[in-house]
Amino acid sequence: MNRLSSLDRLLWELVEIPSINPSLECKDASLTGEEKIAQYLEGNANSSRLEYKRMKVLPGRENLVIRLKPSGNIKNKVMLTPHMDVVPATPNAFVPKIKNGCLFGRGACDTKGSIASFFHAFLRLSKEINRPKNTEIIFVGLVDEEFGQAGSRALAQKGPKADLAIAGEPTNLKVVSAHKGNLWIRLATIGKSAHGSTPQHGSNAINKMSPILEALTIEYPKLLLERKHPLLGPPTVNIGKIQGGSQPNVVPDSCQIDIDRRTLPGETDESVKKEIKKLFRELKINCPEFSRTRTVHCPPLDTDPTLPMVQTFLKASNRRKTIGVPYFTDASPISMGGTPALVFGPGNIAQAHSKNEWVSLEEVEKAEQSIFRFLSNLE
Ligand SMILES: [Zn+2]
Repeated sequence: MNRLSSLDRLLWELVEIPSINPSLECKDASLTGEEKIAQYLEGNANSSRLEYKRMKVLPGRENLVIRLKPSGNIKNKVMLTPHMDVVPATPNAFVPKIKNGCLFGRGACDTKGSIASFFHAFLRLSKEINRPKNTEIIFVGLVDEEFGQAGSRALAQKGPKADLAIAGEPTNLKVVSAHKGNLWIRLATIGKSAHGSTPQHGSNAINKMSPILEALTIEYPKLLLERKHPLLGPPTVNIGKIQGGSQPNVVPDSCQIDIDRRTLPGETDESVKKEIKKLFRELKINCPEFSRTRTVHCPPLDTDPTLPMVQTFLKASNRRKTIGVPYFTDASPISMGGTPALVFGPGNIAQAHSKNEWVSLEEVEKAEQSIFRFLSNLE
């Protein structure tokens, strides 16, 4: 432990503090909640004499907002916004291990590697005499990214707003300016139950679902492939759940499927529903009942890469252009609130949520340097 750098130690200690999202299934309540991470970061902010406060989000769950005020008038604002929650894991996943330059443990890459690099750069800058004179830098530890993004939604609603926010996610240090949105829809068919020996007396809801399944697995994907975003490719549809009937000798009176439709910029929840209904009409399929299984709005992210702040960030992270990713992040709710947002951080998304999560310490260090360079280069 003694040979670790201050950044490695920060990451180690963050991974040691369990912060499983309480909305996800976890039997051990002592491992849940973002509060201990917030307290740990607050302790560090306190020793650096930084101003901080909490933002109420959900019962017992608060965003942490730490401000680094400039010496001159505030002309610009930048926010660093990694999330503090992690997905469920067993207690031993919170005992960090270092092997071959990588730190293993739940949250290592999603997204404590980002917290460590952002926060370390933030504290390092706070000690510099020559730091930006007219830019306020705000570190926000968010709650609930892994479930409903209540933290970033509250931030979008209550402020502060900024000229740019960097959401922390494992992007392998690439700069993400676009990602897909998502829409969860349930389609239901209704039938009439009867004895299985006399199916002609009933109406089979599963049979009614059959042409719908075919349309969504064959015709609809073809339609989606015709549409492409330069950074995101085509939108997608996935049938993730199917339910119906009770046993072989009963004609089922209901059947439901849950679909996950990943959307592109320009597509809305309404336009998606409309096009699916239109497809059913064209294929002469009786329209099922539509309902939403996720009530929060999850639109795509599409930040303008030509924004001056984005260009400054690209330069600081030694990248020529931004990229797109398929997964949803806090950057979308944040940008809905009026702050253009990017996604950036050390680690690979393939390791996020995996049993053996890890992050390369070299990448964490590079992320810290990029963030520090970016912040130092501001006015
Ligand atoms: Zn994450």
